[in-house]
Amino acid sequence: MAVKTKQGKSTQKFGCPFCQQRLWNLGSQKYYLGKRDFWLEKFFCEEHGEMWMRLSRNLEERIVATAATSDDWERI
Ligand SMILES: [Zn+2]
Repeated sequence: MAVKTKQGKSTQKFGCPFCQQRLWNLGSQKYYLGKRDFWLEKFFCEEHGEMWMRLSRNLEERIVATAATSDDWERI
């Protein structure tokens, strides 16, 4: 991995799944799904407004975000 960051442990940035703009974390409550490696958290896109994202931690301890689905909400 050639990607270097000087931000250390600061929070990762995520892109909007619709327009790829930066999403802003609203500091909402986190809703964990089943095991604690998945959770739902609210973000804000300047273009699309508030949205819930499903976040998961991969093997490299990076957090991966995808748009939350109604299935996710049933698994809380
Ligand atoms: Zn957007």
